[in-house]
Amino acid sequence: MPRRKQIYEGKAKILFEGPEPGTLIQYFKDDATAFNNQKHEIIEGKGVLNNRISEFIMQGLERVGIPTHLIRRLNMREQLVRHVEIIPLEVVVRNVAAGSIAKKLGLENGGALPRSIIEFYYKSDELGDPMVAEEHITAFNWANPQEIDDMMSLALRINDYLSGLFAGVGIRLIDFKVEFGRLYEGDMVRLIVADEISPDSCRLWDADSGFILDKDRFRQDLGGVTEAYQDVARRLGVLKENGAQGAKGPVLVTDNESA
Ligand code: UDP
Repeated sequence: MPRRKQIYEGKAKILFEGPEPGTLIQYFKDDATAFNNQKHEIIEGKGVLNNRISEFIMQGLERVGIPTHLIRRLNMREQLVRHVEIIPLEVVVRNVAAGSIAKKLGLENGGALPRSIIEFYYKSDELGDPMVAEEHITAFNWANPQEIDDMMSLALRINDYLSGLFAGVGIRLIDFKVEFGRLYEGDMVRLIVADEISPDSCRLWDADSGFILDKDRFRQDLGGVTEAYQDVARRLGVLKENGAQGAKGPVLVTDNESA
């Protein structure tokens, strides 16, 4: 019998009911998917690495005053997070042309953009996450104009923080995706960062060599996915020398596990 209630299972994570009202447990799986689920593999240790990297980044955001859903990491694969109402949008910030924008607008891969660009995608697996404009967002009530403003300013602040963080460890932040949720506190509603921020949701290139350190290794069949994520974790200081330790297979959570 399952020990606790599963609320939702996504491609790379599972959400369980948390220990107190208003909380959830976010479990990081090893599953990797791309091209709207057409490509699916298990990358051993990915969940453990993303749990640590995302925890580290969310803690850093909190320190610079950007609220997130993270309460604390519980163990190798799980975090205790605030239960929010997810805004059904993926907010992408781009500094350098790569991926879909390079293809769509015929830009040179790796070319700097004139300024950071924010894009919104509607979260829908059936539709393949289509890009949407503010007009669609407000017309279909996915978010109101104030929330769009808040998401844009938070996304730019996150971009500044992440760009500096990664530059400091020799990594160029090409682009990333972030999701926001509504947190209800009495009569007040505010937006906080939800989901995860990890090499699954960022493009990260080694600053000197341009070596790819993110999920594009999986998307493009470049190999060495776990090693690249370990490299990011090690550079950020969240993985000690023998990075592979603890990045092995799934770790089942028991009631008394709280390391
Ligand atoms: N991204 C993501 N989830 C998605 C789509 C994109 O995390 O469902 C991230 C992706 O890793 C990259 C950025 O958002 O860092 C921009 O992705 P892009 O639009 O170029 O899409 P892609 O070509 O990677 O599908």
